[in-house]
Amino acid sequence: MKPAPFEYHAPTSLEAALELKAQHGDDGKPLAGGQSLIPAMNFRVAQPSVLIDLNHVPELRHISKPNGAVHIGSMTLQSTAEHDALVAEHTPLLHEAIPNIAHPQIRNRGTVGGSLAHADPASELPVVALALGAKFRAQSAKAERWIEAKDFFAGLFATTLQPDELLTEIAFPTKTPNTGYCFTEVARRHGDYAMAGLAAVIELGANQTISAAKLVYLNVGDGPVDAVSATANLIGKTPDAAAFKEAGRIASQEDMSPYGNVHATPEYQRHLSAVLTERALAKASERAKAAK
Ligand SMILES: Cc1cc2nc3c(=O)[nH]c(=O)nc-3n(C[C@H](O)[C@H](O)[C@H](O)COP(=O)(O)OP(=O)(O)OC[C@H]3O[C@@H](n4cnc5c(N)ncnc54)[C@H](O)[C@@H]3O)c2cc1C
Repeated sequence: MKPAPFEYHAPTSLEAALELKAQHGDDGKPLAGGQSLIPAMNFRVAQPSVLIDLNHVPELRHISKPNGAVHIGSMTLQSTAEHDALVAEHTPLLHEAIPNIAHPQIRNRGTVGGSLAHADPASELPVVALALGAKFRAQSAKAERWIEAKDFFAGLFATTLQPDELLTEIAFPTKTPNTGYCFTEVARRHGDYAMAGLAAVIELGANQTISAAKLVYLNVGDGPVDAVSATANLIGKTPDAAAFKEAGRIASQEDMSPYGNVHATPEYQRHLSAVLTERALAKASERAKAAK
């Protein structure tokens, strides 16, 4: 099918893009890599009357590390972030997660900000952002604000961005000492959206017990699912197989409500999540021991 008719704008500065967003509000859809928006338009699931193409706004493509975070411009290609040395060195969880997004061809068009603004519960980047406590810079023609990851995602394909705002930058906190990270998922075929997966972060205290942990899951709820009961139960425990198995049990039985889909029943998604939790925590714990 062809998309419904729309007006097309290609601003060449952030200022001009923000002016267009102020003018058109919710009717003006930002076009990033188009890897989700264009298929939705072709299926007429999305019928924006105005497209604001951000591909000619150079201010939105950058990666830097000014302080304790890696800052990534929203229009940075997923493939650029995937191969970036700052991302690899300072945000290993993000580096490990990106190759799981679709195929290289899609990552060569898809953007970091587009994936986060799209807020697909099956996507990898929202899970990483929530696990690391990333911050999102939202700008309008009049003002700007930083939104915490926990306040950014607002359910199925929804965020707390306002109709006149664009997501312009994301700050991913850099790795910290005695902390290990792991991203893992299972898909039917490499490149498909995963049936289940998670980002795990584990910090070891002075006596080598778990002093902090974060477990965030994809495709098992309305958005990235933060397993708060499972992580609370890990604190103070020795990082061993029994503790990891219990975390997987609590996360899969108490912290998530998978819907199931054509590839996996809810029961199978819970099973996968439990098994992947054990693997991710074992790997993250090994890495935490090695990370001084
Ligand atoms: C075959 C296929 C397989 C895929 N598999 C996966 C997968 O396994 N995992 C995964 O995570 N993704 C997957 N994707 C989606 C892909 O990662 C997309 O790149 C991503 O979801 C959207 O990024 P985009 O830059 O293409 O954004 P677009 O499609 O251009 O935009 C997506 C949405 O975000 C909004 N938006 C974009 N930028 C901004 C901004 N700066 N401010 C405010 N709103 C904005 C748009 O208006 C639109 O509503 C797949 C896509 C395809 C086609």
